[in-house]
Parts: sequence; structure tokens; C-alpha cells
Amino acid sequence: MDIHEYQAKAILAEYGLPIAQGGLAYSPEQAAYRTREIGGDKWVVKAQVHSGGRGKAGGVKICADEHEVWEAADEMLGKRLVTQQTGPKGKMISRLYVEEATSITAEFYLSLVLDRCSERIMIVASAAGGMDIEEVAKNNPQAIVNISVEPAVGIQKFQAREIAFALGLKAKQVNQAVTVIEACYRAFRDLDATMVEINPLVVTEDGRLVALDAKMAFDDNALFRRQQISELRDKSQEDPLEMKAADRGLSYIGLDGNIGCIINGAGLAMATMDMIKDAGGEPANFLDIGGGASPERVAKAFNLVLADENIEAILVNIFAGINRCDWVAEGIVQAMNKFEIKIPVIVRLSGTNVEEGRKIIAESGAELIIAESLDEAASKSVAAVAGGGA
Ligand code: ADP
Ligand code: MG
Repeated sequence: MDIHEYQAKAILAEYGLPIAQGGLAYSPEQAAYRTREIGGDKWVVKAQVHSGGRGKAGGVKICADEHEVWEAADEMLGKRLVTQQTGPKGKMISRLYVEEATSITAEFYLSLVLDRCSERIMIVASAAGGMDIEEVAKNNPQAIVNISVEPAVGIQKFQAREIAFALGLKAKQVNQAVTVIEACYRAFRDLDATMVEINPLVVTEDGRLVALDAKMAFDDNALFRRQQISELRDKSQEDPLEMKAADRGLSYIGLDGNIGCIINGAGLAMATMDMIKDAGGEPANFLDIGGGASPERVAKAFNLVLADENIEAILVNIFAGINRCDWVAEGIVQAMNKFEIKIPVIVRLSGTNVEEGRKIIAESGAELIIAESLDEAASKSVAAVAGGGA
């Protein structure tokens, strides 16, 4: 789960991360009021959306007076911000963070991620801050330092100093860098985070280290024990179909194609998507209905897939072990009647109770295209789409 910049800053500040003074705004009036509250003579208005790259997309504006802040807020609120990371639809800006503008002399990159290979938290830093770290990693990998943390002892001060020296920080800032790194590490470890990213971490004109941007992501599987974190969830920033699926216990990932997939098991789902591609088609989604799926659950899966407006055919591919083909068949028939499906539906059933399943389908009179093998199911789906509908 991702959270907003202002939320990450509030959490990390409690752990000792130095941040600029700021406040949240839901309206231009409130944004203007924040400038008086914060004081100073320059402010930054920042769109709160779950995405990086906001600066380049017009989601971060430096303003010299209250009126400019009002205008920037008015311009951003209620709009969708399209960044390099959001896809063409962008993400709705419904809140802003107004912050004092900091005069920057150097920008650094700092992040903590979970390295699944070494099963450790890895600290990644670079003096090439403020830019796309992916670009730096590709074109200038020696500009990145990383250190992995031994979980039994946690981050050691010498390690944090090593990072600070590698970034070329002056003696005066090395201790501040240790504080920053320790704060991020403790927050990461205590809160079941999967990522903490400070980009940029800056040195101000008066020599202080300040985090100007902060991003945190959390392990969904640990949210049950992190109530304060799960309350920070902003569903308006998530893909509505993926969210709907997750709330119903289905794993769904939306894709760009036109063949909807309803499949049991992640492995079979991946294989089916490959077969569709191989036959010259494009899957519209990854959807795993899981084991022991009831007819209602299968019908829900149809509902979900049909909500994608690009769908031109649906392929149901079930290899039943724990699942039962007769239940799946009942679910298909229910969905065909309930949703009055007009697009071609290709069904391949195999495994437990397959005979009963086929019988239910045959007796229902539902117009379905039956396939025996995965190969056949994939090519029939692609042919159905190419044929321009039913
Ligand atoms: P994003 O990473 O989504 O583009 P950032 O918060 O990193 O958003 O902002 C983009 C850039 O705007 C930063 O790299 C920094 O140069 C500048 N910036 C952000 N916040 C401030 C601030 N409080 N004062 C001065 N400059 C800022
Ligand atoms: Mg940033």
C-alpha cells in the first residue's frame, strides 16, 4: 500500500527526519491560509497523488506570494495529474501540501528497500538526487552506493557515516545524515514498510539536511497489525477494478488488451496470458479466482471483467483440482443470464467433476464456445475477437 507524501513526512518526522514546515489544503483559501501559518516569503504547492515525477508534470509549483499560492491551488485541485508513472488517465488531485520553499545547495537520493535476494533491508543512496534514479542506475551506476543491513544488529552508525562520506557530505552534515538514515531505518523496520524514499534529501543554504520529498510503501500482508497505517489508505488513488477485486478476495491486474481472462491459479493465469499472446491476441487482465471457487465467486469474477470497457471476449480456463468444474459451470451460467453477456465467451474446463460441469453448460442452453485444450481455448478467443464480436 502506498501513502501520500505528507503522510510519509509526518510518520518519518516522528522518527526524527528533518522536514520543511508545511500543511495540508483542500481548497485555494486553505492553501493561502497555510502561507500565513507557515510564514516566510516563498512556498511550494504540491499535489498529493500516489506518484513520483510530479515536479515535471506540473504538480509542484514554487510561489512567491499568497495570491500565487491561491492560483496554483485553484489550478491543481480537481484535476487529474498525468505523470510518467500514472499512465494516461492520471490521478485525481484532491488535496495539496503547502510547504515553505527551501533554498537548495545540493540534492541527494536516499532510499531503503527490501532486497528479497539477501532478505535484508538495503540502503541505496546517490549524490545525483532530484532526478530519476532509474536513469542514474542505467547510465551512471557507479554514482549509486548501497549497503545492506544485518537484521540482528540493525543499521550501524559507521554504515550510515560511510553513506554520508560516499555522498561527499561535509563533516558538519555527516551527523545529520546519520540521524536521517537511522530515522528512515527505524520507521521502515517498525512499521512493516517495503520502501522508504527521500528524493531529494537536500542541503540548505544554511547547511541543514532536509527531506523535501518522502515516499513510503507498506506490506499489504502486514496491514492487519498496523491499524494506524491502514487508516492512511486513499482508495481514490488506486485502480478501481483492482481494488474491487481485492475486496472480494480475487487477484486482478488490469492490462491493455481486449480478451478478458477468468482463470484459477496464478501459474495457469500466466500461462494462459502467454498462450493468448502467442496466438496473436492481447489479454485484458490477469485474474485468479483462487481455489474452491463457489458459483457466486465465478459470477463476481465475470462482473469484474465486464467492468473493463475494452473487453471483446472472455476466456474462462479452469484446471480444477480443489476447484469443482460443476460449481464453475454454474457460476458461468449464472453470469451469462444475470449480465446478459453478448460478447463471445470461450470455456475450457478440465479436472474435478468436468463431466458434471459440461452437462450443466450443455443443459443451460447458454451460447458458449467450448474448447478442449488451452491451445484451442487461446486460438478460439483470438479468432472470436478478430471476427468482430459474436
Ligand atoms: P516529485 O518527485 O514527485 O517530482 P518532489 O517533492 O521531489 O516531487 O518535488 C520536485 C522538485 O521540486 C524537487 O526535486 C525539488 O527540487 C523541488 N521542491 C520540492 N519541494 C520543495 C521545497 N519545499 N522547497 C524547494 N524546492 C522544492
Ligand atoms: Mg521527488
